[in-house]
Amino acid sequence: MNTKIYFDNAATTALCSEALEEMLPYFQQHYGNPSSIHSFGRTAKAAVEKARKIVAGALNCSTSEIFFTGSGTESNNTILKGAVQHLGVQRIITSAVEHHCVLHSAEFLQSTGTELQLVKVDALGRPDTQHLEKLLSNSSKKTLVSLMHANNELGTITDIKAVGELCDKYGALFHSDTVQTVGYFPINLQETKAHFISGSAHKFHGPKGTGFVFIRGGTLTQPLLHGGAQERNMRAGTENVAGIVGLGKALQVAVDNMPDNREQVYQLKQYAMQQLTEKLPGVTFNGDTSIEGSNYKVLNVLFPYHPKAELLLFNLDMAGIAASGGSACSSGSEKGSHVLTAIGADPTRKAIRFSFSKYNNTAEIDRLISELTKLFAPAKTSFTTV
Ligand code: PLP
Repeated sequence: MNTKIYFDNAATTALCSEALEEMLPYFQQHYGNPSSIHSFGRTAKAAVEKARKIVAGALNCSTSEIFFTGSGTESNNTILKGAVQHLGVQRIITSAVEHHCVLHSAEFLQSTGTELQLVKVDALGRPDTQHLEKLLSNSSKKTLVSLMHANNELGTITDIKAVGELCDKYGALFHSDTVQTVGYFPINLQETKAHFISGSAHKFHGPKGTGFVFIRGGTLTQPLLHGGAQERNMRAGTENVAGIVGLGKALQVAVDNMPDNREQVYQLKQYAMQQLTEKLPGVTFNGDTSIEGSNYKVLNVLFPYHPKAELLLFNLDMAGIAASGGSACSSGSEKGSHVLTAIGADPTRKAIRFSFSKYNNTAEIDRLISELTKLFAPAKTSFTTV
């Protein structure tokens, strides 16, 4: 039996051994509560603050602007709901290709009276900045713009520096869901005019259930969760110390090795594209696939119509290859992708997102191609004599 292959790294990634090693003492040895003032608590608190320093250093912001949360979902909810509840935001502008934790939060806020506008996206899933400017200039309502950095299904990158400038010009607050790019692309918050960004450790080889939110210089001071004074009163609940330690270490490893990882994973994506095009006529790609315009780890493949294509993911899974037919949250679900619908992808053709990591190699791509060519082989005609 062949070993399994994991091509679903936009859904989640394997924990890196450096992060695991750093986390282990915080389960049984340094188990203090960071809010306790005795030595056990102080050790835990110091570990949390060390991780905060790593995150702030990686993003070029102040440690006072980083708050740990339980997930990217929580970070995004905190910002959208906090902006409406506490900052007087009356209008949210976002796009139809955002992750559901942004879209569903925005829709919830709309149901309670906030105006919701969707900026148009092009066929690659990139927001139309001219349309954004038109929307921004059309209303004096206090506005939050929420546009993601890299789309989790397509990989398409949005120029968040340019969006930040535009929001600044019209006095709008700007949030970017950077869950798919933290640890993969340099993000310099002194150069990008975002008020809020979010991150999630399990996307960059850290542990699941740990995220963070960046809140620029006291822009938002009210929490989503009420309770204790953790995270400087911004996120009540005892900290996931081991998780935060793992987040810090994983981010440090990712940032330290970014150019090499980028080169390695981009080569895999290029190889996969070249092999797919060569061996499976009719294959095309969704989203931007250029080096500068896309997340190098994501490749969204649109297969030619074939009777067996419907069961493609299932058949790949049976062959030991894991990929995804939609975003992480809808992995394995039969519901269509809201992202592919928004870019007008052909609904009669099956799309599969392959997402790579530094732990993948070209031999695995060769096995994928071999399985796909078997699945797409023309059906043998059989004659039955009566
Ligand atoms: N935003 C994007 C772009 C994502 O891809 C995901 C996860 O799939 C999330 C937010 C949610 O992150 P988490 O899984 O940490 O809740």
